[in-house]
Amino acid sequence: MENCRDARTAVIVGAGVAGLAAAIALAREGWQVEIAEAGPPEAASGWGLCLTGPSLRALDELGLADACLAEGYGMSTITRVDVRGEPVDEVRLPRLIGARRPAMAGIARPALYRVLRAEAERRGVVIRHQVTVTAVDPEREPVRVRLSDGTVRHAALLVGADGIRSSTRGLLGLETSPGCHGQMVWRALVPRPPWATGIHEFAGKAGTAGLVPLSDGQAYVFLTENGAERSVLPDAELAPRLRRLLAPFPDRVEELRALVSTSESVVRRPVLTMLVAGAWNRGNSVLIGDAAHAPAPQTAGGAALAVEDGLVLARELGRHESVGAALRAFAGRRARRCRTLVETSVAIVRLERARRHHAAYPLVDSCHRLMAEPA
Ligand SMILES: Cc1cc2nc3c(=O)[nH]c(=O)nc-3n(C[C@H](O)[C@H](O)[C@H](O)COP(=O)(O)OP(=O)(O)OC[C@H]3O[C@@H](n4cnc5c(N)ncnc54)[C@H](O)[C@@H]3O)c2cc1C
Repeated sequence: MENCRDARTAVIVGAGVAGLAAAIALAREGWQVEIAEAGPPEAASGWGLCLTGPSLRALDELGLADACLAEGYGMSTITRVDVRGEPVDEVRLPRLIGARRPAMAGIARPALYRVLRAEAERRGVVIRHQVTVTAVDPEREPVRVRLSDGTVRHAALLVGADGIRSSTRGLLGLETSPGCHGQMVWRALVPRPPWATGIHEFAGKAGTAGLVPLSDGQAYVFLTENGAERSVLPDAELAPRLRRLLAPFPDRVEELRALVSTSESVVRRPVLTMLVAGAWNRGNSVLIGDAAHAPAPQTAGGAALAVEDGLVLARELGRHESVGAALRAFAGRRARRCRTLVETSVAIVRLERARRHHAAYPLVDSCHRLMAEPA
């Protein structure tokens, strides 16, 4: 049997938030890490995301919270506005990384990936782009991994961090399909209006919209569209369609609508969730991040779970003699938190689809409370 403290070689599939965080956490513990990433260098899908307090806390443990705050936009409040345009609530989130630093940050995805990649490479992690894993023999120790460039690795640990549509899941025989909920999320990159110093959420009759600052100069508008078909729209239709969907919203959304100028600045994705109900590990292989548990974006908790997974995985590997025992302990420690977040996110989506936004807010707040607890 491989001993965690002897053969510390890991192959990670996917250089997203989970894969890069795990790579950094493992490299800090002396592991030699290689990442197989299907996408090209510098690719990052989507415009931006909100790093909530738990994400910042986990990034702080990797020594990266300040770099993310410098690249992004620190903030501490969520302002909720009802369908008549009246502010109904101002949520002040706890400052989990200290009273002098903000509670959360908006950040452009490419900026977040730059911070994570630079740190991974500084610690000696090798990132191979446009490469994937085509075959795994999970029962062998070390794990035998064949890459799409025809080369083979024998690693003490294989980590599947290849997102909600993970192909590693299938290779390990842990297949589960993402759940689709009849909602689409829209994002549009816009100049940050001077009044937007925190997150704004606007309840509409048919969906929710809002704004997240990403930097001094940029923000993204978001909109959740209910009852939407999972069809692909021609690129040129994205901006006009989003402007139409924003039209019924009152208040400041009128101003934001005017800022959605070009279709290149707009992305539209289905709301998907996913949870591997059984074991996330097989032999010396394990799934992390969205590959194991993907909440709906409404919780803004997916990135926190992804970074925490990397930290907890490295910790458990440091505690156990065998990789297999460490992976069992890892999955056991993470299961309840991740399952609760995914299941609550599905309940939030259902309430939004029933146009019961006010009933959904307490569930969103319960996600923030759950995630504020230590990982
Ligand atoms: C619209 C939207 C908005 C969101 N907003 C937020 C937010 O504000 N805050 C938040 O915390 N979370 C948010 N999330 C969730 C968050 O983006 C995810 O939880 C997080 O990115 C998960 O990280 P990951 O590394 O597991 O997966 P991903 O970020 O999906 O990364 C997977 C990586 O694996 C690569 N890959 C895929 N397949 C293969 C393969 N076969 N071989 C090799 N590489 C592969 C991909 O190219 C990618 O680089 C949002 C999600 C969506 C869809």
